[in-house]
Amino acid sequence: MSEKYDVIVIGSGPAGYVAAIRAAQLGLKTACVEKWTNDAGSVVNGGTCLNVGCIPSKALLDSSHRYHDAHDGFDQHGINTGDLSINVPEMIKRKEKIVAQMSGGITGLFKSNKVTSILGYGKLLAGKKVEVTDNDGGSTVYEADNVVIATGSVPVNIPVAPVNPADNNIVVDSTGALEFQEVPKRLGVIGAGVIGLELGSVWSRLGSEVVCLEAMDSFLAMMDQQIAKETKKILTKQGLDIRLGCRVTGSEVKGEEVEVSYLDSNGEEQKQTFDKLIVCVGRRPFTEGLLAEDSGVKLDERGFIFVDDNCATTVSGVWAIGDVVRGPMLAHKGSEEGVVVAERIAGQKAMMNYNIIPNVIYTHPEVASVGQTEEQLKADGVEYNVGTFPFLAIGRAVAADSQDGMVKMIADAKTDRILGCHIVGPSASDLVQQVAIGMEFGSTAEDIGMTVFGHPTFSEAVKEAALSVHGHAIHMPNRKKRK
Ligand code: FAD
Ligand code: AMP
Repeated sequence: MSEKYDVIVIGSGPAGYVAAIRAAQLGLKTACVEKWTNDAGSVVNGGTCLNVGCIPSKALLDSSHRYHDAHDGFDQHGINTGDLSINVPEMIKRKEKIVAQMSGGITGLFKSNKVTSILGYGKLLAGKKVEVTDNDGGSTVYEADNVVIATGSVPVNIPVAPVNPADNNIVVDSTGALEFQEVPKRLGVIGAGVIGLELGSVWSRLGSEVVCLEAMDSFLAMMDQQIAKETKKILTKQGLDIRLGCRVTGSEVKGEEVEVSYLDSNGEEQKQTFDKLIVCVGRRPFTEGLLAEDSGVKLDERGFIFVDDNCATTVSGVWAIGDVVRGPMLAHKGSEEGVVVAERIAGQKAMMNYNIIPNVIYTHPEVASVGQTEEQLKADGVEYNVGTFPFLAIGRAVAADSQDGMVKMIADAKTDRILGCHIVGPSASDLVQQVAIGMEFGSTAEDIGMTVFGHPTFSEAVKEAALSVHGHAIHMPNRKKRK
C-alpha cells in the first residue's frame, strides 16, 4: 500500500483538474490520476476539452474563419489579398502548439498548487482505494478519504459507419476531423449537432463541399426553435448542405472514398460518395475498466455514473463529475461540479445552479443560449413575454459586417424575471454570459433594459431585446405597435 491522500481525482479533464486544484487550494492533500500520454510517454493533462475538444476545435475554427474572411470578406474593405492559399499542415501544427501550451499549463498549475500528478489507468476498488496501472503494467494502490471520478466521455461509434483507422482514416470521429492534412473535396458529416456543425464549418470554409446528414426532422432540437431556424438559414447561406430527417443506414469504404447510404426524409434510399466522413452522433460516458466489481458505485440506465444533486455517488466519499454523470456534456458544467465537490469535501455547503448553464455553438456567427426555450416554457404551461432584436439594426454589427442573427429574450409574464435568452449573432458566447449573470441575480428584462450599455457594442442587441420584451426597443425596424 502506498501513500494516502485526502482526495484522489481520476481524470484530468476540465472537471477533474479543476476539482483537484480547488481541493488543493482548500488545503487538502490531492492527487490526480491521468492515463493519457504523449509520444514521449509523459502524462497529458486537460482531457478531451484541451486535447481533442473545445480548444483544438476553436483553434481550427479561428484559422478557417480568417482564411474565409480573407478570401470572401476583405475585398469590400478595400483590402486586396491577391492569390490566397491555405497550408493545412501548418494550420494543424498551430493547433497542436496551442494544445501543448494549454495542456502544459495544467501540469504547471498542478505543480504550483501542489497537486500530485499520477500517470496511469485508475481503477476504483472497494474502500476508497484507487489502483493505478502504469504503461508497463505495474500497479500501485493508493488510499484516499475521498475519490472524485472525472473520467469523461468518448465519441459514440455507430455500426453503420464504423470509425476504422485501418481504412486510411476516411471515416473519422471528431478527433480524426481535427487532424486532416488536406481539405477534403467532398465531406460528409453524420449528425448536425454542435460538434458536427463546428467541424463541418471548419472544412467548409476551407473549400470542402459539406453535406450534414441529420436523423432528426428538426434542426438543433434542444435549442429555441426560432433561433435554430435562423441559424439554419445562415449556415445554409454559407454553403453547409444540412439535410434533416436523413438516417444513415450504411457506409462502405471503397479505395480513397466512402459511399454512404441513408434514408431521406421521404423514406427513400439515397447514396452519396464522400472523400471523408465525420461521425458526430454524440458522446457516451467513459467508465471502461474503472470500477472494481465490489466498488459499490452504481451506473444509471444510460451508463452514466449515478449521482445525486451534489455529485455524490452511491458510495459515501466517492463523487463523480463532468461528462461521466448526467447533465449537459459541457466543459464548464464539469468544472463547476469540480469546484462544488471539492468545497463539499472541505466541509462547505457549495451548490450548483443547473438551470443557468450557457450553451454555445462556435459557428460564425455563434449560437448561444441560457435558460429555458420558448418550447420548454409552452410545454410547462408558463406564461411569458418575448422580445427579439436583430443585429442588422445594431451599428457596431453593421460596421463589422456581422449583421446576421438576433437576440431573443424571454421573461416571465407576471414577474418579468428573465427565463431564457437565445442568440445567434456576433460574439453570442460573450453576450449570453451577460444575461446569465443577470439571471443568477434574479434580473428582470426591465433591469437589463434600464442598464446603460456602451455604444457602439454588440451588447446593445441584448439591451434592445430586453426593451423589446415590453415593446420599447428604440431601434426596432418594422415596428408594428408601440406600448
Ligand atoms: P474529459 O475531458 O473527457 O476528461 C476525462 C479524462 O479522464 C481524460 O483525460 C481521460 O484520459 C481520463 N481518464 C478516463 N478514464 C480514466 C482512468 N480510468 N484512469 C485515468 N484517467 C482516465 N464543451 C464545451 O463546453 N465547449 C466547447 O466548445 C466544446 N467543444 C467540443 C468540441 C469537440 C470536438 C468535442 C469532442 C467536445 C467539445 N466539448 C465542448 C465537450 C467537452 O470537451 C467535454 O464536455 C469536457 O471535456 C468534459 O470534461 P470531463 O473532465 O468530464 O471529461
Ligand atoms: P449531438 O448530440 O449534439 O452531439 O448531435 C448528434 C446528432 O447526431 C443528433 O442530432 C442525432 O440525431 C444525430 N444522429 C445520430 N445517429 C444518426 C444517424 N444514424 N444518421 C444521422 N444522424 C444521426
